[in-house]
Amino acid sequence: MEYKKNNYLTVKIEDMSNEGEGIGKVDGFTLFVKDTVIGDTARVKLIKVKKNYAFARLEEIIEPSVDRVDAVCPVHRQCGGCQLQSMSYESQLRFKQNKVRNNLIRIGGFTEDFVDSVMEPIVGMEEPFHYRNKAQYPVGTDKEGNPVAGFYAGRTHSIISNLNCALGVPENEEILKLILEHMKVYRIPAYDEVTGQGLVRHVLIRKGFTSGEIMVCLVLNWKPGKNKENRKADTAGVSAGKGGFLEYMSGQQELLDKLAKIKGMTSISVSINTEQTNVIMGREIHTLWGSATISDTIHVRDMQKSGYPFTGQELNFHISPLSFYQVNPVQTEKLYSLALEYTGLTGKESVWDLYCGIGTISLFLATHAGKVYGVEIVPQAIEDAKENARRNGIRNAEFYVGKAEEVLPEFYERLSKGASDAVQDMLHPDVIVVDPPRKGCDEACLDTMLKMRPERIVYVSCDSATLARDLKVLCEGGYEVKKVRAVDQFGMTVHVEVAIMMQLVEK
Ligand code: SAH
Repeated sequence: MEYKKNNYLTVKIEDMSNEGEGIGKVDGFTLFVKDTVIGDTARVKLIKVKKNYAFARLEEIIEPSVDRVDAVCPVHRQCGGCQLQSMSYESQLRFKQNKVRNNLIRIGGFTEDFVDSVMEPIVGMEEPFHYRNKAQYPVGTDKEGNPVAGFYAGRTHSIISNLNCALGVPENEEILKLILEHMKVYRIPAYDEVTGQGLVRHVLIRKGFTSGEIMVCLVLNWKPGKNKENRKADTAGVSAGKGGFLEYMSGQQELLDKLAKIKGMTSISVSINTEQTNVIMGREIHTLWGSATISDTIHVRDMQKSGYPFTGQELNFHISPLSFYQVNPVQTEKLYSLALEYTGLTGKESVWDLYCGIGTISLFLATHAGKVYGVEIVPQAIEDAKENARRNGIRNAEFYVGKAEEVLPEFYERLSKGASDAVQDMLHPDVIVVDPPRKGCDEACLDTMLKMRPERIVYVSCDSATLARDLKVLCEGGYEVKKVRAVDQFGMTVHVEVAIMMQLVEK
């Protein structure tokens, strides 16, 4: 039979793609259906038909899967951020364990038996909602001309209002309401992605879960003298700061006063982003009220009950708006505990921590290593890392700004020429820890790691596909995967974090 767009079909969902789409077959023809769950029988409407497969939209659940639950958020289907909200949390964990396993087999080229012998059970969350410490809300204008904040509808420029995301903290709504109300009263225009006009682009909100401290950063399309609401600071309130403060929007002090009253408010800043891009934050940050950073404490524990030396340790970190900080603080403690345990440190080792952010992993490592060298691309994060080392009384960690794939090879080339004993620990570390963004490690970085030949490599990854790709390279270079464990940092979404430990087998 020939299938066409807008046809209705009934399909039983048998599998799920890595992106969380249900997969089913009708007469050998494959359908991908968002918002369905393995085990559902559903009536679907074809929306895009290819030769051997089609994308379809869920119209009606005819027979629900045993894994199906009622979604908590009324706009989860439009938003698309929570691809798995209709699945029980238990089945989400099964999905993620399988996703990691399949990627290791298909992309990494490992055998099923091997993967099953090294892979430990996924570490799940106790509370899979309201776990995120960070939210970035886009701001726009609705059809009536009112400012709105929420999420982009599909691949469009229009924003659907949602101030109360089920993954975030309750303070988000309170903060956004104040900002939107202020924009309305003072007629402050939201940024328009199409025209590049308007002022307010995004609101970043971050909360330290242990400290209770809150940071708000308004991302503004602010050009001096261009927006009519941009005047030099002349109000008593604004210039009462250290002087030189600019007024970025009308009635700014009034907004600051209101925001400052929210319990836990610690830092209010603006980030200037005038580029027509989908990069959220601009590089320039000005603190308008309170401190430039918020703080948070991370506590590590014994995950594998092996009595490892990090147990019970805690460190405190300062985080600035542009720095990366893990978004799920409860699960981060488990992830770090596992990663630190995988390093097998005894106190003397030298360690590189690549993609180190504000030095969270590095500083824990430093308390049980001889020397730690951190590398990170964002200059502010390295400033935070250095400050965090100082504040925690850690003296054996050094931090370098730059791309891991440039900094590491440069060090290697330079040091291997003059190789004095003093640099041996840097040239041939005992352990390398990497925690790259989704795109994984660059080849130049992997090559240098292989030249440095550490005894162990601990790879922390937020994308098991690029992880599997990189593991293949490292295994071909003489390493063997000893342990793999997924940690769910992103409940309700298809994303999953993985920690792996590799050992050098061919010297
Ligand atoms: N280990 C840290 C950060 C992990 S996130 C933590 O757990 O908090 C990945 C980090 O890599 C981010 O801080 C990002 O800014 C940084 N990064 C991205 N590309 C990079 C590159 N090419 N070289 C070095 N760091 C990079």
